[in-house]
Amino acid sequence: MIYIHVPFCHRKCTYCAFYSKPAHGVDGFAQYVDVLLEEMECRKGEQAHPIRTVYFGGGTPSILPIGELGRIVDGLRRCFDLSQLEEATLEANPEDLTPEYLTSLRDLGLFNRLSIGVQSLDDEMLRLIGRRHTAQQAFEAVENARRAGFDNISIDFIYGLPSNLDFPNVLEFLRIVSHVSAYALTVEEGTALARQVEQGRVALPGDDEVVRQYHAVCKQLDNAGFHQYEVSNFARPGCESKHNSRYWDRTPYLGLGPGAHSFDGRCRRWNKPDGTFEEETLTEADAYNEMVMTTLRTTRGIALVHVPEEQMERLHHGMKRYVDCGWIVLKDNHYAPTKEGLLHADGIAAELFV
Ligand code: SF4
Repeated sequence: MIYIHVPFCHRKCTYCAFYSKPAHGVDGFAQYVDVLLEEMECRKGEQAHPIRTVYFGGGTPSILPIGELGRIVDGLRRCFDLSQLEEATLEANPEDLTPEYLTSLRDLGLFNRLSIGVQSLDDEMLRLIGRRHTAQQAFEAVENARRAGFDNISIDFIYGLPSNLDFPNVLEFLRIVSHVSAYALTVEEGTALARQVEQGRVALPGDDEVVRQYHAVCKQLDNAGFHQYEVSNFARPGCESKHNSRYWDRTPYLGLGPGAHSFDGRCRRWNKPDGTFEEETLTEADAYNEMVMTTLRTTRGIALVHVPEEQMERLHHGMKRYVDCGWIVLKDNHYAPTKEGLLHADGIAAELFV
């Protein structure tokens, strides 16, 4: 699987701590693609073939002109065997998705899935968190995407935003999408939102309210036919993100671009914006802890078959109190979190680390 990082955004959203930089016109995009294609050429041997999934994330990949996206797609076709490709996703922001752009995107013949950052359906809230689109634009973007032939569309929402609003009424959207990612707002250090909260200019809902919203989101999506398969991800049957599911299964992947991560099964590598990179070889304990951390965020949970014999007793012992309090159930040889347990997945995982 391949991840392409596109590091540009029109402007910074107040809550965002991802690496991204302002777009500096057409030349900036062309230079970025030149460097990306060089990296692709150098590192193409690092990934097992054939490639099953490709994911363009960011940043804002839909900021790239179609011509530049086309050069990346050509590069992928040159460097990798895409004959068995199952899923190719482009993250997009609503304001970029005009009918013309979408048709050209479709004509590139690679992408079969869009992940659209809707975030909220309240225009005032969108403005407050620095988004450039309105709720109406978001709705039109999704409709335009359907008309252009994209039938696998995911939308992102944020709950726990600084308002008294419930999770927005997303019913209109839910009719025409196949996947929803709903994230609890987190205040990341160094962001504009963190400063606003610190200065008392923005008041966030308390933990109890965020938990209430989480359950409301789950219920609303459940009623609309979306099942939860990870703490933040909900899909119609068969429409789970193949790419993300493979991350959680710890499948090796190649990440290209200035902020991309890669994983070859033992070693993690981080590309840095200055063109250098860092890497770390995982010990057996690191690999086990990562497995616990990622699988506990999924509804399938920890498969006992993936637990080394020497850790089994410790795991059973550590899980006992979470089973007793109803956060975890043991079924089909998996320790699986309940809806409540998913909310505490990171804390439970930390208790189980070796
Ligand atoms: S568009 Fe996405 S990556 Fe860019 S600043 Fe906003 S949240 Fe961050």
